[in-house]
Amino acid sequence: MLSSATMETTTPPAPERSDFIREIVTTDLREGTHESIVTRFPPEPNGYLHIGHAKSICLNFGIAEEFGGRCHLRFDDTNPVKEEQEFIDSIEADVRWLGFDWGEHLYFASDYFEQLYAWAVHLIEAGKAYVDDLSADEIREYRGTLTEPGRESPWRDRSVAENLDLFARMRAGEFPNGARVLRAKIDMASPNINFRDPVMYRILHAVHPRTGDAWCIYPSYDFAHGQSDAIEHITHSICTLEFQDHRPLYDWFIENLPVPSRPRQYEFARLNLTHTVLSKRILLRLVSEGHVRGWDDPRMPTLSALRRRGFPAEGIRDFAAMIGVARADSVVEVEMLEHAVRDVLNREAQRRFAILKPLKVVIENYPEGEVEYVEVQNNPEDPSAGTRPVAFSRELWIERDDFMEDPPKKFFRLAPGREVRLRSAYFVTCTEVVKDDAGEIVELRCTYDPDTRGGSAPDGRRPKATLHWLSVAHAVPVEVRLYDHLFASEYPGADGRDLFDDLNPDSEIVLRDSFVEPSLAEFASGETVQFERLGYFCPDVDSSPGAPVFNRTLTLKDTWAKLQKQGRHD
Ligand code: ATP
Ligand code: MG
Repeated sequence: MLSSATMETTTPPAPERSDFIREIVTTDLREGTHESIVTRFPPEPNGYLHIGHAKSICLNFGIAEEFGGRCHLRFDDTNPVKEEQEFIDSIEADVRWLGFDWGEHLYFASDYFEQLYAWAVHLIEAGKAYVDDLSADEIREYRGTLTEPGRESPWRDRSVAENLDLFARMRAGEFPNGARVLRAKIDMASPNINFRDPVMYRILHAVHPRTGDAWCIYPSYDFAHGQSDAIEHITHSICTLEFQDHRPLYDWFIENLPVPSRPRQYEFARLNLTHTVLSKRILLRLVSEGHVRGWDDPRMPTLSALRRRGFPAEGIRDFAAMIGVARADSVVEVEMLEHAVRDVLNREAQRRFAILKPLKVVIENYPEGEVEYVEVQNNPEDPSAGTRPVAFSRELWIERDDFMEDPPKKFFRLAPGREVRLRSAYFVTCTEVVKDDAGEIVELRCTYDPDTRGGSAPDGRRPKATLHWLSVAHAVPVEVRLYDHLFASEYPGADGRDLFDDLNPDSEIVLRDSFVEPSLAEFASGETVQFERLGYFCPDVDSSPGAPVFNRTLTLKDTWAKLQKQGRHD
């Protein structure tokens, strides 16, 4: 049987959740370390936001909301080679769509370039930064390894005056890309490689989306990030675990510069999802190599894609609450995200009839040319959603999978001689199977019982199956795109496999002779509905007048609930 529309799901967790970061914030407020808190979400505009970013957004904006503080949106736009206005625009749209608002607190690291430059000069003057002429390869080679200390650059002991002069000339554009860098002068023997004279500035003759060609030197992430936080008086600078080893460096800059505030960094485990890749570098390759339709292809894990696929923002926020925030790395089953989304859709999505793979049924005892309208419930979970009239006539479409000529024992749907209920309409009985010359079933002949109008019989008999259906004359032809995981493997690229070999060849199946109710024409793009017994679907942006396209958001089967029952989760 296809799954029932009203699936039992677990209730979402209480909003008063806590985690180690919220505990720190609570303590800081209670002890007066901070009067109010300021967080930020700091994306680099070099791609579209993905579901992993949603975890960070929900955390940073969520904490600000819960504790009466504020959260900034700050673009870490320090690498003009990879950054684009398109990405800035999409990031803003995605954060808003997720349901968060930065108010007037929209910032760009590039707004701080002049200040960062002044602070770099400050470190040079203090003998704590120097211009290095080693090439990038040499710098890497001199840096040493985890087990061996690094070596000092021959340019490390330049005079302050010479460093100031060279740095000014770097800014003035006198040198080509890669000719020189500015480095912090810390400790080439430090066990923390981030302390081995990290690069603060590099020469990059590139046009920046915001500052144009005003600059040809750009600060490194390590030099820009903490100081940007300090300028904005960020109290809790929350980031993912890979920056843990950068924290001492971050603190070193803060201690050695006349910054207006001292943010503290806290790290949490990034989101990993089964069947999913969340690296922007790989996502960019999927797009540029044509494995998907674009950044917003419904199979991508980007927020634009999930929106296009019909995932409601609320489902994503619920998912973020369910997974919580911890310091231990883990992989979350993608089924859990789907479960959170289904939970919202089951509650809110209107039901409609659609036939994905049609089979014609002719009701022989129904008058030719007659049409009647039966009332069908819009959402059994929400009686206030009302009903709608659906046209019934002599020629109907049913789902091809709902008929079997020679049914096995557990198949209760239509079969020769068997009676089933057509939802909210009548009981029908199959009397004849019509085949073409090749032996393919092309049509069913049925009779209906006029006394069963509305879907119940006066004698109380109840067919074992209820099917959805459409009137042939009224059905609207549509294209339907069935989506499944982009990566067939639970852990794409694991065990030394090429990630791209793990792509699921059936991640998109396009059906071109499906039908929907005419009432679906009124659904604004983006609104997700349940095609009864089939799944959740939403109109795609590729729809044009007279040629609607629907995406399958999700099937009805809640595999996460099943995994839980099998004891794979506590
Ligand atoms: P990628 O590694 O895919 O390029 P990124 O971390 O470099 O992504 P940023 O734009 O720098 O991308 O990320 C902005 C913020 O989102 C950072 O604070 C980062 O820690 C956080 N973030 C990125 N990926 C995840 C994830 N998978 N889970 C949680 N937070 C994440
Ligand atoms: Mg990053």
